[in-house]
Amino acid sequence: MSDVGTKVRFPADAPVYKLLRSRVRAAMAGRARTAGALGGLNVALIVTLIAACYVSLLCWVDAAWQAVLIALLLVQGLVLMGTNIMHESVHDAVSRHRWVNRVLARSLEVLGGNQSLWRFKHTVVHHTYTSIVGVDDDIDTGGLLRLHPDQPWRSYHRLQALYFPALYSLSALGWFFADFVQYRTMRVGTARIPDFTPGEHALFWGGKALWIVLVLALPMMFHPPWLVIATALAIYLVFGFNIALIFQLAHVVEDASWVRPAEDGTVDHEWAVHQLKTTVNFGTANGLWNWYTGGLSYQIEHHLFPRISHVHYPAISRVVKQTCAELGLPYHEHRHTRSVVVAHVRHLAAMGRRP
Ligand SMILES: [Zn+2]
Repeated sequence: MSDVGTKVRFPADAPVYKLLRSRVRAAMAGRARTAGALGGLNVALIVTLIAACYVSLLCWVDAAWQAVLIALLLVQGLVLMGTNIMHESVHDAVSRHRWVNRVLARSLEVLGGNQSLWRFKHTVVHHTYTSIVGVDDDIDTGGLLRLHPDQPWRSYHRLQALYFPALYSLSALGWFFADFVQYRTMRVGTARIPDFTPGEHALFWGGKALWIVLVLALPMMFHPPWLVIATALAIYLVFGFNIALIFQLAHVVEDASWVRPAEDGTVDHEWAVHQLKTTVNFGTANGLWNWYTGGLSYQIEHHLFPRISHVHYPAISRVVKQTCAELGLPYHEHRHTRSVVVAHVRHLAAMGRRP
């Protein structure tokens, strides 16, 4: 694993990962790891949906009910862009051409984030040091939520199972603003973000400017400023809630383990086993969830094989599950989304109780 400024270390010997890799390679039977033309069609459909909703909101709708309906559709387009285009291309899983993935990953700029910062935070820090307190930024809410047993408890955490939806709603807008802090400090938790190239600096500022133009400036040429701000706020609050919940359901639930490295930073099990302990699949009974979440619902397979497209995850999951059963390793799965939402809320309630 790459040195990102953290002392956490996994054993170099990785027999479980080697076995899983060889079995998954055999199961793929020479098929491409991406979705090929189907993946391209998926990207085109999502971009068309977003563009159609955006243009309609700008210059077609003339009734409030139409605006609400199209805004809700736009939110779903943004979620699909986040999961199927941005997240998968950050992992080079949409196309076999690296440059295509790099271009598609810039869709994050349209969503308010910055691809260079998020790529490091997600693919290096989160995927390597999953749910390790003080390192994985995904479980660090600045103390607003207590997600991990090693995080300090505050009396207001008693209510976190009730107020978490409000915080999740702010996550997409938080993306836009939190980037400025990370850009200034160039740190994610204990990890130092690699220095930006001049091009990445330009893309950071250009991306933020593009978001302001698309979300505020251009719509204000068609509608009153108050209406634009209210609509943008509503869209980004609902989008933020959806996307944050999808990411949280995969790790922050009552059946996931919370690994505590030793004083010197060593973890006593290999990285693949760490992923199996800390990661949860959900909604696997419904194939649509795999598409809607871009494979995030098959989070175990995604963490182990992030460069493989989500279209292959159901087949791969059978191999991973069988191997875990053989080796006596955990394989956390909630086949129905309802049960994982309950497990998430129950975990928040448990962490909210005074330790
Ligand atoms: Zn990922």
